[in-house]
Amino acid sequence: MQHVNVFKFGGASLKDAPAIRHVGNILKTFAQQPLVIVVSAMGKTTNALEDVAHAYWHGRPEEARGKLDRIHGEATAIIDALFQEVPEELTVAVNDLFVSVEWALEESPNAEYDFDYDQIVSLGELLSSHIVASYLTRIGLPSSWLDARDVIQTDNTFREGWVRWPETTERAERLLPPLLQQTKFVVTQGFIGNTSENYTTTLGREGSDYSAAIFSYCLDAEAMSIWKDVPGVLTADPRIFENVSKIDRMSYREAIEMTYYGAKVIHPKTIKPLQNKSIPLYVRSFLEPELEGTFVTDDAGDAYPPMVAVEREQALINISTRDFSFVAEHHIKELFEHITTTRLQVNMMQNTAISFNVVVNDIDDRVQRFCTLVDDQFKTTVDRNLELITVRHYTPEVVESMRRGKVNLLEGRLPLTLQMVVKDVPVMRRKDG
Ligand code: ADP
Ligand code: ASP
Ligand code: MG
Repeated sequence: MQHVNVFKFGGASLKDAPAIRHVGNILKTFAQQPLVIVVSAMGKTTNALEDVAHAYWHGRPEEARGKLDRIHGEATAIIDALFQEVPEELTVAVNDLFVSVEWALEESPNAEYDFDYDQIVSLGELLSSHIVASYLTRIGLPSSWLDARDVIQTDNTFREGWVRWPETTERAERLLPPLLQQTKFVVTQGFIGNTSENYTTTLGREGSDYSAAIFSYCLDAEAMSIWKDVPGVLTADPRIFENVSKIDRMSYREAIEMTYYGAKVIHPKTIKPLQNKSIPLYVRSFLEPELEGTFVTDDAGDAYPPMVAVEREQALINISTRDFSFVAEHHIKELFEHITTTRLQVNMMQNTAISFNVVVNDIDDRVQRFCTLVDDQFKTTVDRNLELITVRHYTPEVVESMRRGKVNLLEGRLPLTLQMVVKDVPVMRRKDG
């Protein structure tokens, strides 16, 4: 078999019917090669489904049902705009998907929110993949639909499934080649997997890039391309900064460092599977598909301009011993056990004689749960709504510009990386002004 390529299209590239038609036009130029096409949910569907899960879990099934109906209405409008005559199997597949969630909403919530979340939110990718596969077939690009849950097996960590690689690889090697023989294109979902007991899991928000990397790894793909609304990896997020420029080539190492600290253009887990098999990654623009994008590979040079990543919704937890003893190794071990069980993600840490500071992503009630767990031995104070700014290849000018208008609460420097945790300088306004 010819070497397969893996493409991933995110929510922005599939946000409405014209966007899906545009993706179809891009794919026409690749009609000759076997492609696994991994898709996200359309537009902001995942956020809307999160609202459904939230209302359901908080005992408001009617509200959840209303929100689900709205998503169904929007999907139907997109389908009607794409097809003059809607294929029967698409209508059936879409109705089945919504009916299964409607039924779930009639039951009482499960004991675990994360479990219910995954059963509901996974609808987004199942829906978009059915629509895209049918649409491609209709425009003369025969495409098979593959349920990613038949390939990607995870453990039972709902909302953050950990991939079981041997099972996943075996299933990918068995299921994909025959499908790619039948039709050159196989369309499947990003973001979702399955446990060994057959329950749906998700891989973490924005996880579709990672799904594409899992497929690439298992199939020894020739290359993987992720199609974005930016020309490639830029020196900073263009939604936050002006005067950014595109990086033409970058090493896996550089990409992993940038994305880990919040460069949202690539999901941080994406790089490892690609690096492990030396599979090149292209980050390309679906708006300007003729341009080259960014090429991520093993042998990119090591000269980079300063690059900035900003991670928002950070909490700084200051932890000190209640009896004034030093924060010693056994304390740190214990603290990290609690960090692990509450699933806090630590982005930065620093310690003094009697205190330990950690900067974490402030998700759900995890910080509060952690503070309660350690309360008998440690006093904790929490500063919220902070930003973690990471500058790779920093220069004094860039660091200075990052500090403007901010109060710096914590800073760490390594030869190539500078990090600071900041909040906005409080603005004083005259009462008589
Ligand atoms: P997808 O449609 O695949 O979900 P995302 O929206 O997750 O794509 O990622 C693309 C976005 O990432 C861009 O619109 C941009 O605002 C943001 N971004 C953050 N950091 C960078 C960066 N360094 N380079 C390019 N884009 C970035
Ligand atoms: N649809 C999921 C999300 O919005 C996964 C993804 O798009 O990557 O988080
Ligand atoms: Mg996304």
